[in-house]
Amino acid sequence: MANNARPANPCTTPGCRGRAEKGRCILCRQRQARSAPSTGPRYGGTWGERRIRYLRENPYCIICTHLAHVPDHYPLSRRALIDMGVHDPDADEYLRPLCKRCHDKQTAIHQPGGWHRDRTRWNR
Ligand SMILES: [Zn+2]
Ligand SMILES: [Zn+2]
Repeated sequence: MANNARPANPCTTPGCRGRAEKGRCILCRQRQARSAPSTGPRYGGTWGERRIRYLRENPYCIICTHLAHVPDHYPLSRRALIDMGVHDPDADEYLRPLCKRCHDKQTAIHQPGGWHRDRTRWNR
């Protein structure tokens, strides 16, 4: 029975001692998938990374000109963009930089639930 379950060929990565049916072993494939952004989504990066990059390029709140903290989806919400079938709703063209204060205010205006909920809480 020895070795029957193992793939027959050595991994093609130089120096790797893994085995594979063909080409690279699983570990090498996973490593390559992680380190090669060209195979991933076109714009790449997590929302956190993109947010940081966006704020570096657009550092000031467009409403009050203080330092921006949040890329806000505008004029359409992220959900609306997704509903429209937009390929990358987090692209710069769908965003505007806002500071925390303005973002909270805008969110309250555009998302009725949030504002109303806060008022209810305050009134108690
Ligand atoms: Zn390998
Ligand atoms: Zn602001």
